[in-house]
Amino acid sequence: MIQFNTPIQDLGNINSNNLFIKRDDLIPYCFGGNKARKAFLFFDEIDKGGYDYVVTYGSSHSNHCRVIANMAAERNMPCLIIGPEEVSDDTSNSKIMKLLGANIITVPVNEVHDRIESELELLRNKGFTPYFIEGGGHGNLGTEAYVQCYKEIKEYEIKHGIIFDYIFFASGTGTTQAGLVCGKLLNNDDTEIIGISIARKNPRGRNIVFDSVRSYLEGKSISVDVQTSIVFCDEYVGNGYGIEDTEILKAINDSLIRFGIPLDSTYTGKAFTGMKKYLAENNIENKNVLFIHTGGTPLFFDDIERI
Ligand SMILES: *Cc1c(COP(=O)(O)O)cnc(C)c1O
Repeated sequence: MIQFNTPIQDLGNINSNNLFIKRDDLIPYCFGGNKARKAFLFFDEIDKGGYDYVVTYGSSHSNHCRVIANMAAERNMPCLIIGPEEVSDDTSNSKIMKLLGANIITVPVNEVHDRIESELELLRNKGFTPYFIEGGGHGNLGTEAYVQCYKEIKEYEIKHGIIFDYIFFASGTGTTQAGLVCGKLLNNDDTEIIGISIARKNPRGRNIVFDSVRSYLEGKSISVDVQTSIVFCDEYVGNGYGIEDTEILKAINDSLIRFGIPLDSTYTGKAFTGMKKYLAENNIENKNVLFIHTGGTPLFFDDIERI
């Protein structure tokens, strides 16, 4: 397994706060991102468990499916991706998946669940031992990946004598957030973990993060206080998943020019814009703020003409 500890860069003063960015987009595997961090752990289990087929779920925009397709190809293992017909346009990610030889099936979104079950059944009947990874790398292993990321952040804090008051990032399935929250709870820290939702609304979004936190900690025989506060901020979702607006496109342009850091309109650009609004609306000043760049670089290339 590739060892890495992604860099944290000091971006200086932004909106009266000290802004830092953790570059998970630089995880050294197929354009990195949080899906790569999670996928290493899933493939560790696949390698140990004698599986010979990987099946997962995601749209043609999915960073998760891109990374899974690559890790499967690396092992010469067949990879089946089941995706929603509604989001199946050609993108940089879907082109990479095809390049890597993934077999992609699209069905109407309401048939996805049954289709996954029937495809897994079919593979077992053919004598394969398939491993199914939930969309986005959701599940305890995905959570574990961000408990590990939290450890890296802690190490940085100790080494540099700094404490982050806030950690912001794009929250989708909530697994990244669950891992960071578990890391905070396990270390008894006060850092505010703030997920900026890129699609889901509350209470659903927050409840799913909470369920993931509870499931992870129960697996470690740690009981969790139901009162655990989860800040899943759904105020900046806009018109929903993948819908860009001019403000986000401007933020992407600014970040590229000022820092040389590409963002995208579905995840990191939306979260970065949401973070700035959150800091301003809550009058937060003179704090150490960490933004986690969760990757999605191929989406930047899909956005490029619109920026
Ligand atoms: C999937 C994804 C997210 C959301 O991560 P979750 O763990 O699903 O909440 C954020 N940023 C990028 C770039 C992603 O691909």
